[in-house]
Amino acid sequence: MKDSLKKVLQEKYIKEGFWREETFSDLLRECAGKYGEKTAICDGNNSLTYSEWNSLADKYAAYLKSEGIKSGDRVIIQIPNSNEFGVILFSLFRLGVVPVLALPTHRKKEISSFIEVSGAVAYITVRSHLGYDYAEIVNECVTGTGCRHFFADDIRCDKADMTFNISENDRKFSDIAVLQVSGGTTDVPKLIPRTNADYLYDARTFAEVCGMNEDTVFLAAIPASHNFCFANPGIIGTMICGGKIVMAKNGSPDEIFELIESEKVNITAMVPSLLSICSEMAEWEECDLSSIKTILVGGSLLTYPVLSKAEENLDCKVRQVYGTAEGLNTITDIDMSAELTANCQGKKISSGDEMMIETDDGDFAPAGIEGELLLRGPYTIQNYYNNPAADAESFRDDGFYRTGDRAFIDTEGNLHITGRVKEQINRAGEKIMPSELERILDENEDIERSAVVGVPDELMINKICAVVVTDNDSIDLAYLRGYLESKGVAAFKLPDMAVKILQIPLTAVGKPDKKLIVDMIANEKMERI
Ligand code: AMP
Repeated sequence: MKDSLKKVLQEKYIKEGFWREETFSDLLRECAGKYGEKTAICDGNNSLTYSEWNSLADKYAAYLKSEGIKSGDRVIIQIPNSNEFGVILFSLFRLGVVPVLALPTHRKKEISSFIEVSGAVAYITVRSHLGYDYAEIVNECVTGTGCRHFFADDIRCDKADMTFNISENDRKFSDIAVLQVSGGTTDVPKLIPRTNADYLYDARTFAEVCGMNEDTVFLAAIPASHNFCFANPGIIGTMICGGKIVMAKNGSPDEIFELIESEKVNITAMVPSLLSICSEMAEWEECDLSSIKTILVGGSLLTYPVLSKAEENLDCKVRQVYGTAEGLNTITDIDMSAELTANCQGKKISSGDEMMIETDDGDFAPAGIEGELLLRGPYTIQNYYNNPAADAESFRDDGFYRTGDRAFIDTEGNLHITGRVKEQINRAGEKIMPSELERILDENEDIERSAVVGVPDELMINKICAVVVTDNDSIDLAYLRGYLESKGVAAFKLPDMAVKILQIPLTAVGKPDKKLIVDMIANEKMERI
């Protein structure tokens, strides 16, 4: 996108009131002023009020400054869900540093790439988490690069002379506040520059749509640094409303249930795979989950059986959310039927959001017609960070961001995601979207979970492979083809092969890892049925 167009759009977002003169650092200070003695964040062991959190952020900022880190520097933060995550993150905001929000599951390949692309001056992590020793990353990827490392528990705030002067921070509302990371399963994640004004607008608007307020108790059940948990509306939306953030340290269903009961959690965000496990566990676990009223679900395909079982077992409202770390969010209406909630991603959350569908010949499609989803608006990025090749591929000249998702928008304005453009299977020239078959397979009572992928084939370009989790030994390729056919699926879409697996492999945030699945099939690591 040309700089002149970027400027026009940014001026429009300021003029129309979407962007305010605010920063993440201001947010915590204002929360301390408004909600001072209220509990802001807890992680099972400890809790902090907004005032305590704010003064710790100042002290840690002073310490990091004394170590030579300054406003405008980039620092990678890879800290699992905890109060420490909140304190260190906001000390970086306070100092005017741009944090790179790595996920705890990122390893050497990702961290090396983040250092290179962001030019980070420091990497802050923990010594170990869930059996992984992060010193391995420090020793192999950080030492010797000019990027320093800090272990979170070494960051001190106990020196008496530690005071922090906010004039050290020269970041403005329109400057980059954080570098989010893209969720691709094929390449190393791209860095996504989110400004103070756009990301805070996103979280505030989303929090309003979700009805969050001072009584909100939000459970961070998935990684806190992931866009969905961080600001959709997540942790930041909860802060804006003066609510309480509850950090699940390992995100296991047991821990989630314990925290819902003990902290009286009333809203959380999950990917469909986690929702499904929690709803199954609720059938036999004797926890009091009556406080939970809303579960926001997004990130990958949600099916009706998973949604309806969850609403029944957990006795709460499930709302489907569409989000990308690159920007625009949608959410299903609160009074929508369960069928429609499972089958669409709802409406855009801001009047400034522009959602378009691009047909194969580059035109904008009318309602009901499928194509690639394009986005533009007050909190959708206009470029990636230091990545001209990705910019050329992902942004049109008119500023629209190409999501790589196939979708259509119905006449009511509801978004319907039908799959990833790159996941589309080309079988001898015929195009098949895996999600169409996955939805039907997942409705079969004998199939616990499915994934459909294209397996490279010399003759047909791709063969369609159905991957199923089932304990019914009579399920085989012939059965699956017959079942899909009985549901009206066209003959050219029927699977050419089928394999069985104990569990669908998931990515860092719980989405089906289709690349790994294809590799496993190619290496014959799955049982053919
Ligand atoms: P991430 O950048 O990790 O947040 O991933 C964003 C991608 O997740 C989107 O581009 C979609 O492909 C997918 N996604 C997000 N929400 C949904 C949803 N409700 N249903 C299906 N796919 C989704």
